[in-house]
Amino acid sequence: MMKENIGIEAKKPEKECNDEKCPWHGTLPVRGRIFSGTVTSTKPSKTAIVKWNYHYFLKKYERYEKRNTRIVAYNPECINAKKGDIVKIAECRPLSKTKSFIVVEVLK
Ligand SMILES: [Zn+2]
Repeated sequence: MMKENIGIEAKKPEKECNDEKCPWHGTLPVRGRIFSGTVTSTKPSKTAIVKWNYHYFLKKYERYEKRNTRIVAYNPECINAKKGDIVKIAECRPLSKTKSFIVVEVLK
């Protein structure tokens, strides 16, 4: 059964899935931080590598430096984010050694 609300602001996916680890159709609760970024890879399957850039101020040089963050997120079947998509990811309990975020919505 699909939840109406997963506790954060996100649009419901159109597809259904039977995934335990899906925040919409499974039992995985999401909590904590929320980010959005661009999917740079969807390998291995059900995984999305999400990246975004930010500017970091260096006091010593009095200028900004471009940095980026890379997060490995779980990509549930019903959402199925593709490379190049802009997605919203939310923190959840650790799903594996590197995954503690999950894709909750494709924004674009
Ligand atoms: Zn699902």
